[in-house]
Amino acid sequence: MTKFVHFSHAELACPRTRAVVLAPGFGEALDALRDSYGLAMTLTSACRSAEHNARIGGHPRSLHLIANAHWRCDTCAVDVAMADGPSRGRLIELAWDRGWSVGIAPGFLHLDRRTAVLGLAQTTWVY
Ligand SMILES: [Zn+2]
Repeated sequence: MTKFVHFSHAELACPRTRAVVLAPGFGEALDALRDSYGLAMTLTSACRSAEHNARIGGHPRSLHLIANAHWRCDTCAVDVAMADGPSRGRLIELAWDRGWSVGIAPGFLHLDRRTAVLGLAQTTWVY
């Protein structure tokens, strides 16, 4: 499997199946974002099997899914733990400028590549 500079197999894997299956270019884009950010990015969710996604109440068409039947793609989303406002703002800015869509939650950012992988419009939302 492809090795990434900043993220281990364990960090990217589905907690239930341990599988890592990423959409083409996703891991490279994530590594590049991490390079630009220059700070640690603690992933709280990356790849999810359908079973794991259902178990944690994920959206049925979640971009975290491996073998996403709706979009016909593999994982193109991560959640990143975020504690402080300035770091969150900086990561939002960097991700947005690089074409990522951003979901903002109190304790994490959801970052996905819907535009690059699926051709969907770039967006932001608040949980
Ligand atoms: Zn997410």
